[in-house]
Amino acid sequence: MTYAEKQRLMRDRAAALIEDGIVAYIIGWRETRFPDKTAVFFARDKDDAERLVWNEYAVPLTAKYMTGDRWPDGKIGVFARGCDSKAINRLISDNQIERENVYIIGLPCEGKSDDRCLTCRQKDPVAYDELLWEPDSASPTVAGRGRFFRTEEVEALGTQERFDYWEDVYSRCIRCYACRNICPVCTCRECYVDMHRTGFQGKRQDTAENRVFGVTRAFHVGDRCIECGECERACPMGLPILGQTQKIIKTVERLAGDYESGMSPDKENFLGKFDKDDKDAFM
Ligand code: SF4
Ligand code: SF4
Repeated sequence: MTYAEKQRLMRDRAAALIEDGIVAYIIGWRETRFPDKTAVFFARDKDDAERLVWNEYAVPLTAKYMTGDRWPDGKIGVFARGCDSKAINRLISDNQIERENVYIIGLPCEGKSDDRCLTCRQKDPVAYDELLWEPDSASPTVAGRGRFFRTEEVEALGTQERFDYWEDVYSRCIRCYACRNICPVCTCRECYVDMHRTGFQGKRQDTAENRVFGVTRAFHVGDRCIECGECERACPMGLPILGQTQKIIKTVERLAGDYESGMSPDKENFLGKFDKDDKDAFM
């Protein structure tokens, strides 16, 4: 099927679901004034449904946009590729949304025109109420780059070079918090960096303060990160922060075996586990 044929299916299905009252609205994508960019869009009627688009630039994650509607008037319809569906699972397991409030229209993805898709492991939705088209068997199910290539490039550096690498990254961070705002697993209603007195994190934008923010953010998302790469895509300074989070996931893999957040809505926090019989001395 071509993009145009799939887009037609999306528009028709969105209009039907809204008109039949199965969903209150549907979250998808619309065009922007930039030909190579789309924006997340809330379709609320059949005229809106005609504005939905599906093309190689339908890159942004839809799932995070559900978190603003905790008590929806009807089900929230959401178009979901592999990454979106992992984010939805994660939001359910983090108690941010209720499964019964969501209607997931699965879209097997072709791979989009963005670096965030370089290490995609799940192009096809891992959770859905209906699939709009069948996965393309001719299309590879995973992207060509190794999952942890970003992390491994930094691991290959010497100790001083690694320190310099991260000092350079943190010196360029402008603390705009776009990485936090777009992240589907960053869902605290009030983030500690927005509080007046944190005691350990100031408001200054300098390398030391930025480092505290960057490391804290990475550990906060830690094993819950679904590796969607939205944080890197949103960063206006082009900072390589996904590799930092994947370093934590790579360590979890070493300790726990195969691990991928968002593959099911079950509680699956590796770092959040508590066991009274833990053999670690400090317990
Ligand atoms: S890749 Fe970035 S935006 Fe996506 S879940 Fe992980 S930390 Fe959040
Ligand atoms: S999006 Fe980039 S510049 Fe903004 S706070 Fe995050 S790392 Fe820093």
